Amino acid sequence: MHWEAIRKETAPAVPPRLADYDRVRSAFTWSQARAELSGLPGGGLNMAHEAVDRHAFSGNANKVALRCIARDDSVTTVTYAELMRRTSRFAGVLRSLCIGRGDRVFTLLGRCPELYTSVLGTLKNTSVLCPLFPAFGPDPVEQRLRLGDAQVLVTTADLYRRKVAERRTSVPGLKHVLIVGPGAEGLPGTSSLEDLMSEAPDTFTVPPTSPEDMALLHFTSGTTGTPKGAVHVHEAVVAHHATAAYALDLHPDDVYWCTADPGWVTGMSYGIIAPLAHGVTVVVDEGDYDARRWYRILGEQRVTVWYTAPTALRMLMRATPRQGPYDLPRSHDLSALRFVASVGEPLNPEAVVWGRDVLGLAVHDNWWQTETGSIMIANFAACDIRPGSMGRPLPGVDATVLKQDGEGRVQITDGRVTEVERPGAEGELALRPGWPSMFRGYLHDKKRYEAAFADGWYLTGDLVRRDADGWYWFVGRADDVIKSAGHLIGPFEVESALLEHPAVTEVGVIGRPDPVAGNVVKAFVSLREGVEPNPDLKRELLGFARRKLGPAVAPREISFDQNLPKTRSGKVMRRLLRARELGLPSGDVSTLEGSA
Ligand code: AMP
Repeated sequence: MHWEAIRKETAPAVPPRLADYDRVRSAFTWSQARAELSGLPGGGLNMAHEAVDRHAFSGNANKVALRCIARDDSVTTVTYAELMRRTSRFAGVLRSLCIGRGDRVFTLLGRCPELYTSVLGTLKNTSVLCPLFPAFGPDPVEQRLRLGDAQVLVTTADLYRRKVAERRTSVPGLKHVLIVGPGAEGLPGTSSLEDLMSEAPDTFTVPPTSPEDMALLHFTSGTTGTPKGAVHVHEAVVAHHATAAYALDLHPDDVYWCTADPGWVTGMSYGIIAPLAHGVTVVVDEGDYDARRWYRILGEQRVTVWYTAPTALRMLMRATPRQGPYDLPRSHDLSALRFVASVGEPLNPEAVVWGRDVLGLAVHDNWWQTETGSIMIANFAACDIRPGSMGRPLPGVDATVLKQDGEGRVQITDGRVTEVERPGAEGELALRPGWPSMFRGYLHDKKRYEAAFADGWYLTGDLVRRDADGWYWFVGRADDVIKSAGHLIGPFEVESALLEHPAVTEVGVIGRPDPVAGNVVKAFVSLREGVEPNPDLKRELLGFARRKLGPAVAPREISFDQNLPKTRSGKVMRRLLRARELGLPSGDVSTLEGSA
């Protein structure tokens, strides 16, 4: 079906930050973008200084930085001045524990005020923050703590008890566990964060910070092997700030809500750093998705700019169809809302148009990934929207489409890649490194980092098409990683967990397309000889995986299959499993076990 472009015929009430795409793009330089930040008083650049202290020292001290809505709907506000004091105390706590530059501080917390204090206090102290998604189970938590060399973990008594305590000895480098809220007394080897904070001074001088100092560590998944720790540096704040202006159209008086959890890169870059660097008021909801709750928050909090995800929009579409018994959006006052954007998975044209018809605002899709650290391709407030397209590259971002070889990898001949010239032809999306939030490496994994580049381009692993006018259209992933409800899941991590069950001998995990979540994780399992497949065993395996991996990663479906397709070297062929599941042609099966 062809979708008409959504034209921006009437000028928006608030003049867009990027009014003329071509003009801004041709004039843009990253050094100008850097000049919009203040830098540390003695030189250098520190994310937390840009996000907190510089506002607290200016006329914004009493402005609300965070409006935190708890699960019980109570609202706590934190001003920039108060956030400065709290983050200074947290930095002081780290210093008192002899945690310093480059040391890793992990958070495993819901979206409570202390999460924000811990993130920004860690950055002030020039330590490195690694957020963990609280819906991870004990396996992903332990693995990331270990791979990331965690020295400090900030969490709650409940999360610690359920996900870490029993595995503590497997992470010998973890020196301090700081407990938010009550319960530290009953837990050996932990301390109460509140007690430590009460003893720390509420002023802290940020030590000299080089823009190249490591600031954030974000784990992301690949097709094989352990999760990869993408390293980001303090300079990334330059890109967070510039892209939030251009792609999210942030203005100083905005009330901004990003629904992503800071356990994922979107919730960190655009839920914490970018909006605070702009000095806006950030709405934080501790609760989970609920259509009524979300419309209420948008209305009551007078949200002006909303950054969310396609799965969430599709759930809202289901809850509030264009014609239906409910009129949820209209029973809340959404008149403050002026810009809606989404990221993380393909945004179907229906959702873009639903936004226009039901919310009164079309949804602006944008594209980026953990490694890029900030938005790379976007639909802009001042530009028409082509529903289904991710938009065009941001100022300062040079993108292209590269030709693939027969195996689905970028074609490299004598070290050179070939750009796809023909409009609409498919290839792998590649970016020319040089923007400040580009990842600087995968922690302890130089090989995997180097493999992500060819001929001076960073290879994103995404397949796209570019039309004749330079708009990018998402096609799919070039590898086997799974996007489910906007979360990136490595099939290997799920397979490894299921293989630990004594009844299981082999596993292949794929994403099965789903109309709401994009994909759901599905595992195909071969059983040990003599074990009979039956519904009880299926339930047991689902529960086993869920206990280990947590609801964010665990498979939703399991199928028994004693004849998993394998390569001659014995590797389960996920591509073929997926083709079978979807009734698609099998493609190239020359490496299939048993083929001639
Ligand atoms: P993550 O690193 O977890 O943020 O996931 C990044 C991946 O999400 C990208 O490589 C894409 O596969 C997918 N993704 C992000 N944004 C979009 C989008 N607007 N449309 C389609 N896929 C997207």
